[in-house]
Amino acid sequence: MHRVESYVAGGWHRPSSDGRALLDAATGKTVAELSPAGIGLAAAVEHGRTVGGPALRQLTFHQRASILQKAGKALLADEAKEQLYDLSYCTGATRADSWIDIEGGAGVLLSYAGKARRELPNSRVAVDGATEPLSRDGSFSAVHILTPRKGVEVQINAFNFPVWGMLEKLATAFIAGVPSIVKPASLTAYLTEAAVRLIIESGLLPEGSLQLACASPSELNGLLDCLGGQDSIAFTGSAATAAALRAHLAVTARATRLNVEADSLNAAVLAPAAAPGTAEFDLFTAEVVKEMTVKAGQKCTAIRRALVPAQHLDAAAEALAEALQAVAVGDPRDRSTVMGPLVGLAQRDEVAASVGALCEAAAPVVDSCDLSGVDSVAGAFMSPTLLQARDSRSSVIHTTEAFGPVSTLVPYGSIDEAVELVAAGGGSLVASVYGADRDEITDLSLGIASHHGRVLIVDQAMAPASTGHGSPLPLLVHGGPGRAGGGQEMGGMRGVYAHMQRTAVQGSPDMLTAVTGEYVDGSVTREHKGHPFKLTFDDLAVGDSLTTESRTVTRADIAAFAESTGDKFYAHVDDEAAARSPIFNGLVAHGYLVLSLAAGLFVWPDEGPVLANYGIDRLRFAKPTYPDDEIHVVLTCKRKTQLDGRGYGEVAWDTRVINQHGEVNAAYDVLTMVANAPGVNGAPEARSHA
Ligand code: NAP
Repeated sequence: MHRVESYVAGGWHRPSSDGRALLDAATGKTVAELSPAGIGLAAAVEHGRTVGGPALRQLTFHQRASILQKAGKALLADEAKEQLYDLSYCTGATRADSWIDIEGGAGVLLSYAGKARRELPNSRVAVDGATEPLSRDGSFSAVHILTPRKGVEVQINAFNFPVWGMLEKLATAFIAGVPSIVKPASLTAYLTEAAVRLIIESGLLPEGSLQLACASPSELNGLLDCLGGQDSIAFTGSAATAAALRAHLAVTARATRLNVEADSLNAAVLAPAAAPGTAEFDLFTAEVVKEMTVKAGQKCTAIRRALVPAQHLDAAAEALAEALQAVAVGDPRDRSTVMGPLVGLAQRDEVAASVGALCEAAAPVVDSCDLSGVDSVAGAFMSPTLLQARDSRSSVIHTTEAFGPVSTLVPYGSIDEAVELVAAGGGSLVASVYGADRDEITDLSLGIASHHGRVLIVDQAMAPASTGHGSPLPLLVHGGPGRAGGGQEMGGMRGVYAHMQRTAVQGSPDMLTAVTGEYVDGSVTREHKGHPFKLTFDDLAVGDSLTTESRTVTRADIAAFAESTGDKFYAHVDDEAAARSPIFNGLVAHGYLVLSLAAGLFVWPDEGPVLANYGIDRLRFAKPTYPDDEIHVVLTCKRKTQLDGRGYGEVAWDTRVINQHGEVNAAYDVLTMVANAPGVNGAPEARSHA
């Protein structure tokens, strides 16, 4: 019998004592045995802090992203993936359910790898926001920087997504440069263990950046006792466990950061105008059925409350009942099965108890199904259960989470009442609203937004592309206020930054440039004899600068630009109208003409290391440019981002167009691709630049 192991301090540890049997959800047969880890978990914290953290912090964001991408691909390799699918069936998950967990989880790694390379510099420090000048003479400024905390993150996961739940937390911590200690839920720990083993055996991750503690909650306490102010706990699970963690001394006395993703009574709201017969009515019923049955409703985001206008209640109940009765409940290994069993018999008992509680205020609409062909004694099978509230305001409906295939239809009278009822859930991860009437949808969405981390608006236009109510996406915030725990995960770089310390650094622009690796306005620049566009990516340094010749902007330039582009806005072509403008003192040059003339001043024409200009950031036309103004450009290398293995990197140039009075007419960052020196970073050996 396989005994679940932990991976701590660079080695796998097989517990020596007997433990509890972990049972197949459908057959009741033993899948693995889980014993107390039996090792001092303080070692995991020490190893993470002294080995994993330093190794991660040596890497740039892009290097970490590359590793994460390879790890994601390793999990998606056929053999690896199928091994995980085989184990996933034991948890009660169908192939479709497991896809979300396994391939969806690997997808989070790939998504974060791509996003980090696009949005973070290829460096170890990120700059958050703009430079803040603190003195009139420009000698004193401040920037906000983000650096990884020098601790570990203990990631405590729920049983329902043993792979995805682990990977979505690992992704952000890893990109940030913080080592992870994963504590999987006991019930499905064998699947998390298999996924971690695949990652560790790939040899891709720096040692100590990922550890696995298959520990009982009491053993975990020993680990939490070691945590301090540089460490964090990311928890997913029930509100009761969250409350215990909130009271832990690490959190209360030592300021260990705690992020909680707890339970949630998510709502779907059918808008009044989405009457039976409309596309949105059908989309609503389809989504409620999907959310009740995917993963047998054991999803933190599942729809627990389906709010419908009172006048559509009967039609909604009828449509849902018909669809639910057609759901094939059975063995998850059978490809015709739509809904498998719950994760175990104890969970089924818990859900049944919650249904009992809900029935104080609701009556069953559907609560039976055909279970022939399965072992309904040993397997944790349950019928999809649709209830209908007798009293929409009864608190039990808004406070009881039945963590299974259970949802309650809740009628409402007005949009205000719908908003109130949704809020009675005390804060949720997600709500979805269905309708085509813009006013209704706006009132509903804005009314409930304060109580949610995510709101999905469903209408006919987005339906074919919709990722659905229940799918948290790496790009979007996952988490909700109040009962949902008040935490936030993922959300693109927001999730990465949550692992990092934001520090306001004050000093001279020169020092700030040195610390951040990015040119800060006012720091020393270097003018080259030649043009900086003739320097390869490797020869170019932040602060390399060019001051161009001047040129006069003439009336003829403005008239010709208006003629050739067709941009004949009055301020560029009509002196009298321009003179009446409250903004301009007469005819002005087009802003885009100024940009084009500036390019004419700074661009080096010959073939060379600058391969392309791929955009402009932060463009502002600070002052109007008038006929006969003399403009010149100051161009300074602001930021360099090496793109691994491509033979070139990105260079952002701080660009200012300055007039004869020394005033800045336009300021922006020109974004270019600049080739590496021959043979460096995959650049061709033989390239020669004049
Ligand atoms: P749970 O009992 O709270 O367990 C969650 C995790 O906490 C497990 O790893 C568990 O370990 C561990 N744990 C239990 N007691 C602990 C303690 N005193 N100290 C430290 N860790 C402790 O929740 P569950 O029943 O497994 O999961 C279902 C719940 O999770 C539902 O309420 C669901 O809504 C919620 N959930 C929320 C999200 C979200 O993103 N918001 C996602 C999924 C699930 P053991 O397994 O070893 O007991």
